[in-house]
Amino acid sequence: MIDYSKNTPEPGDGNILTAQYTPEDDAEGSLRPRYLKEYIGQEKAKQNLSVFIESARRRSEPLDHVILHGPPGLGKTTLAAIIANEMGSTLRKTSGPAIEKPRDLAALLTSLDENDVLFIDEIHRLNRQVEEILYPAMEDRQIDIIIGQGPAATSISIDLKPFTLVGATTRSGQLSSPLRDRFGIDLKLELYKPEELRRIITRSADILKVEIDPDGALEIASRSRGTPRIANRLLRRVRDFAEIYSGGVITRELADKALKMLDIDGSGLDAIDRRLLRGIIENYGGGPVGLDTIAATINEESVTIEDVYEPYLLQQGFLTRTPRGRCVTPRAYAHLGIPFSGNSPDAGGQTSLKL
Ligand code: ADP
Repeated sequence: MIDYSKNTPEPGDGNILTAQYTPEDDAEGSLRPRYLKEYIGQEKAKQNLSVFIESARRRSEPLDHVILHGPPGLGKTTLAAIIANEMGSTLRKTSGPAIEKPRDLAALLTSLDENDVLFIDEIHRLNRQVEEILYPAMEDRQIDIIIGQGPAATSISIDLKPFTLVGATTRSGQLSSPLRDRFGIDLKLELYKPEELRRIITRSADILKVEIDPDGALEIASRSRGTPRIANRLLRRVRDFAEIYSGGVITRELADKALKMLDIDGSGLDAIDRRLLRGIIENYGGGPVGLDTIAATINEESVTIEDVYEPYLLQQGFLTRTPRGRCVTPRAYAHLGIPFSGNSPDAGGQTSLKL
C-alpha cells in the first residue's frame, strides 16, 4: 500500500507536459541514443535513412542533405547526431533564429571541415537573406560573398568542403519551396505509439538506474503525448514519487497515482488541454472555431497550441480540423463528462478561419 499523506514532491512550476525543451531536460544528454540501432520507433524514417547512409558510406561521399519534420521532442536533434555518428563525422549545431546575418552563416559554412554534419534546428525561422546563402551552398558547395560597397562592390565565390545539412522543422508549411527542394532526403517523424514509448522509458530507466516494472513503464508511456521528451521527463518525476512512496520501484499503481497528482489524466491530457477543449465547448458550442480565437480564449500563443497541444489532441481524436475551424469531438465531450448535443452550426461565422 502506498501512503500518499507524506510530503509530496513538487509538481514543478512549469507545464510538465510541454514537448518544448526546458532547463529540466538538461539531463537528456545521457539518454540520447547515439546510433540508429538504439533509436526506438520511427521505423519508416529509420529504414530509409539506413539505406541512404549505407550507400553514401560505400561511395565515400557525404550523405545528401536531410530535412526532418515533426513536433518538438520527437527526436530530430537526436537523429541529426545519429547521422553524424553513423557517418563518422562531426556534428555542428545551430538554429534558424541564432543566425541573424548572411555573413554569420557564411562564416559558419566556411569553417566546416570535410564531411561535417551541420544541424540547423527550426530552419523555417531563417530569414530570407540568410536562406539565400544556403541555396548555392547546398547545391554547388559554393557561397557568393559581396566585398566592398557601391559601384566598387565585387562578388567572389568561395568553394566549400563537402558537407551534409540536416534541417529540422516543426512547421513544414512555413518552409519556402526553393529551400525544401534542395533537400534530397525528406523524413517526417510521427508521434510514438505507447509500446514504443514503453521501450524508450525502459531504456532510460536502465540508464538512470531506476527500477520500473513493465506495467509501470506502459502507464507512463500512455500518458506521454506520444513524445519521448515528455516520457523521459515524466519518468524522472515519477521516480521522485517512487523514492518517497514505494522504495524507489515504479509500479503501475505508483505511476498512476503520481501522474494524477501531477494533474495528468488517464488519457495523458493536462490542465491546459482540458481548458482548451472546455473553452471551445463552453464558448463556441464545440466549434468550428479558428485557432487565433481559441488562443485568445485560453490565453495561450497560437503557435504553442498548434505545435505543442494540437498534434496529440488530433491524434487521439479529441479535436478535428475542418475548413471552417477546429471542432471538439464527441469523444472529448465524453472524456470531460459533458453531454454532447452536436457542434454549433453557427460558431464558424464569428471566428477567424485561419487553419
Ligand atoms: P527534438 O529535436 O525533435 O525536439 P530531441 O532529439 O531533442 O527532440 O529528443 C528529445 C529526447 O527524447 C532526447 O533526449 C532523447 O533522449 C529522447 N528520444 C527522442 N527520440 C528517441 C528515440 N527514438 N529513442 C529513444 N529516445 C529518444
